[in-house]
Amino acid sequence: MEKKDLKSLNYDQLQQELLAMGEKTFRARQMYQWFHEKLADTPQDMSNLPQALKNRLAQEYVCTDLEILEVLTSATDGTQKFLFRLADGNVIESVLMRYHHGNSVCISSQVGCRMGCRFCASTLGGLTRNLLPGEMLDQIYKIQKYSNERVSNLVVMGTGEPLDNYENLLQFIHMLSDEHGLHISQRNITVSTCGIVPRMYDLAKEKLQITLALSLHASTQEKRTKLMPIALKYELEEVLAACRNYFEKTGRRLTFEYSLVSNVNDSQEDAKRLAALIGKINCHVNLIPVNPIKEREFVQPDRRAAEQFRAKLERAGVNATIRRTLGEDVNASCGQLRKSYMDTQEKKGQA
Ligand code: SAH
Repeated sequence: MEKKDLKSLNYDQLQQELLAMGEKTFRARQMYQWFHEKLADTPQDMSNLPQALKNRLAQEYVCTDLEILEVLTSATDGTQKFLFRLADGNVIESVLMRYHHGNSVCISSQVGCRMGCRFCASTLGGLTRNLLPGEMLDQIYKIQKYSNERVSNLVVMGTGEPLDNYENLLQFIHMLSDEHGLHISQRNITVSTCGIVPRMYDLAKEKLQITLALSLHASTQEKRTKLMPIALKYELEEVLAACRNYFEKTGRRLTFEYSLVSNVNDSQEDAKRLAALIGKINCHVNLIPVNPIKEREFVQPDRRAAEQFRAKLERAGVNATIRRTLGEDVNASCGQLRKSYMDTQEKKGQA
């Protein structure tokens, strides 16, 4: 049987494991605090744990302990991009962004992705595997320790489709917002999805206070299908109905993400249709000038075109901002760092 990952266990699960080993409840409290408040890497660092127990834990369990492979710091805005190695050798990336309102971390939820969005670098190699709750948490823990600065906001917008790793995502959110963990407010957590409709309904039932961001990227079903294969499975109208339901059940304003691609979805007509489509939903639109990737032909609209698109939405009463692109000089978006790392490894292998 596969060994359980200690860092992925919530408090009740950890307690169960320890009780089954003949330990007392206070050990579970101690260990949970070491892992999730004091950010101990492994049980070896837990100074008040008996050596015999540490040895047994090391034999019977595994413990996520991400290795920092590389940290790239943007010369322009201080954004830092982290490349981590997982225990099985897979590589993932995360980003630390510094804003006036605090530090925000963007994490990956899967190794690779199987959603196939046309403009996205993370999906080019397909899905390798889901990340465990502990592997999502440890991205934040390692970044907080490395920077020695508190992380106050979290976005699940790195590599992967979070709702395609639903159970692990939920456990991760509960552990991250738990008062016996980093205690990051759910209101400061955003989960971005390409629109897996049944999971959006499930998430609404959880009644979490997190923000749901939907990757919309088009104002018609036809255009969306060309950019996002998932649109073939769940049509635009169904996705928007799931968004409305999320607001009704949670009271949380939706975020729509819209990557602007020159001559594909950035016309004034597109803006007008978009406004009509989502105008009645309590929402905010994040416009992201597309980050061109070398494998595809997509071109970013210039600043003026993006501004005109935003203005058109605003005039129609839809709240919109153009996302400040942070860390462009360090490949800080959408799986590009991991991809360039893997390309280099591949070349080395062939040489
Ligand atoms: N699977 C999730 C998270 C993906 S990344 C989702 O689909 O929402 C977060 C956002 O970045 C998504 O809106 C995604 O569509 C967008 N994105 C991916 N690659 C991009 C690129 N090259 N340029 C601009 N936005 C991109």
